[in-house]
Amino acid sequence: MPPTAVTAPMCKYRGRFAPSPSGPLHFGSLVAAVGSYLDAKANQGKWLVRIEDIDTTRVIKDADTDILNTLQAYALYWDEPVVYQTQRLNLYQDTVNSLLKQNLIYGCNCTRKQIKAIGGIYKGHCKALKHNTNTDALRLIQTHATTQFNDLIQGDINVNSALAHEDYLIKRSDGLFAYQLVVVVDDIEQGINRIVRGADLIEPTARQISLFKQLNNPIPEFAHLPLAVAKPGFKLSKQNYAPAISKQNPKPALISAFEFLGLPINANLMDLNIEQLMAWGVNKFNLKQIPHVPEIQISQHPTS
Ligand code: GLU
Ligand code: ZN
Repeated sequence: MPPTAVTAPMCKYRGRFAPSPSGPLHFGSLVAAVGSYLDAKANQGKWLVRIEDIDTTRVIKDADTDILNTLQAYALYWDEPVVYQTQRLNLYQDTVNSLLKQNLIYGCNCTRKQIKAIGGIYKGHCKALKHNTNTDALRLIQTHATTQFNDLIQGDINVNSALAHEDYLIKRSDGLFAYQLVVVVDDIEQGINRIVRGADLIEPTARQISLFKQLNNPIPEFAHLPLAVAKPGFKLSKQNYAPAISKQNPKPALISAFEFLGLPINANLMDLNIEQLMAWGVNKFNLKQIPHVPEIQISQHPTS
């Protein structure tokens, strides 16, 4: 008999959960937290938490503490100190400086309205205009356009070619570093090699891959979890006031998150404590069981 093919466990797996502190965790963000945690732990990996507070205009006071307390109430313990983007601005500036030195960045003073008027995709209008790179918004010249990638859950993903070739913003006109830049710089600096997150981030993934290439770094694996939606096309989000999940009574929402992720839940699970429940989840988790769909409608918000 030929030997059975075995898959070696991924070595030195490093994963993360990267919430924006714009409100409390809701069921949708719990799914991303639990999915990334279970995949990391099922692969003997490290699970990191990064507070994505770069967009200070959207930060809600104390939401970070509330999110961290909630993770602990769900037995989602991180393995390294929590990182805050607002404490790492030098790191982002260093990356911008190095790209500037390579003449890969130009200033842009086009308004959102102007870009919308030409169809929503930026066509490089300011590239030859030599605007001041100290004051204007900054765009990165796209030299590593990525139009296709493989997702561990969603399969082969093709990206609109015009979008893939866009010189996208890496610094906004209000002086804030753009999410697209910082998320990649952070993932590189934290040595993240598998990214498990919600399918709402599939589209920006191609840009992020292009930046990993631009910065000469290995590209992590991506696994985009189905999004929890209230009705087709409407994801649960802080913006549409999805209710916060309970810190006092975490088991029902955790079991619902397990079910959402394709775990074989049963009625006896309610008898376990939260730590035992999470250990059960790690033991039963299998990325292949996750439905290969971009969204799943949930009938009610499992909050209590
Ligand atoms: N901070 C982003 C969010 O809360 C997630 C970013 C990521 O996982 O890459 O939507
Ligand atoms: Zn412009």
